[in-house]
Amino acid sequence: MYSLPYKQLSRKTLGFFPTPLVSLDRLTKYLGGPKILMKRDDQTGLALGGNKTRKLEFLIAEALEQGCDCVVTAGAAQSNHCRQTSAAATASGLECHLVLGGQPKQEPNGNLLLDYLFGANIHWDIDGRKGESIPNIMEALRVEGKNPYLIPYGGSSTTGAAAYVEAMREVKMQLEVMTQKVDHVIFASSSGGTQAGFTVGKTIHDLPFQLVGIEIDKGEAGKNSFSEYVCDLANQLAKRLDIETRYHDQNFTFRSEFLGEGYGVVSDFEREAIQVTAHQEGILLDPVYTGRAMGALFSMIRNKEFRENETVLFWHTGGTPALFDYVKDLIPAS
Ligand SMILES: *Cc1c(COP(=O)(O)O)cnc(C)c1O
Repeated sequence: MYSLPYKQLSRKTLGFFPTPLVSLDRLTKYLGGPKILMKRDDQTGLALGGNKTRKLEFLIAEALEQGCDCVVTAGAAQSNHCRQTSAAATASGLECHLVLGGQPKQEPNGNLLLDYLFGANIHWDIDGRKGESIPNIMEALRVEGKNPYLIPYGGSSTTGAAAYVEAMREVKMQLEVMTQKVDHVIFASSSGGTQAGFTVGKTIHDLPFQLVGIEIDKGEAGKNSFSEYVCDLANQLAKRLDIETRYHDQNFTFRSEFLGEGYGVVSDFEREAIQVTAHQEGILLDPVYTGRAMGALFSMIRNKEFRENETVLFWHTGGTPALFDYVKDLIPAS
């Protein structure tokens, strides 16, 4: 039996759950390290999948409950979050407005192509990819008589993050059925909702493993550090779910040494992880998030950070449609 203190939040079915939890025996052998499991949230089912689908089940439910008729969110041109949001919105009868960073693209591909197919209204924001011009768009929609629902960058409000509390319950049940223990959970962390939800979920469901967030996008100068931000979000979520635990910086493990050349820049580090995982397991990672996080896992294994008999769970957060925007980085001209 599990207690579900967060059941007061509504959830609209958009994806297919539970996602598979699989053992990567060939990759484990190739790396000669700890046993590696993978949680396939790239297979959440909605519009080619990814971790935002979990969040959107809670966010879209809240938008509908509030009587909203459209949603507004933001991201990079190749945002996985925006692609899943445009599919979730249209499948729920809501209009979708995306604020994408950069200039309009001549030949939309990858996630951006899919945004167009799902009928999203795209607003280009030359200077920002984190929704700097969202307030203007919200206001313009209100002037038109619409009732917009704001989904923050990455869907990382407490509502979105609550989905990852539930994901911890899901994986706990799967591990019990498999009679499998896990020592470390490794995942790409960027807007922080996944990590905040995991952290609160680990407390509620009393899970023993260490959560290791691989930082993907370095914070902006002058803003709070990423750890303060995630800690704050976890505390807000805990309060909202009536949980007494309060978190501090030292409750979080972030690895920020794998930022490389910056957000979305693919180097040998990500390329090796993507190629090896594809060759060994027939599993696709993405160039921006999971390729970097898997590179981090390779590096941690090679640095002997784990013991032989330990088990590492790599949480695949999705993102594979972006591969099609990275052809030159993934297959360098010979
Ligand atoms: C958004 C995203 C992440 C990061 O999740 P956050 O909750 O924003 O930290 C990781 N991987 C992929 C593929 C994503 O699209």
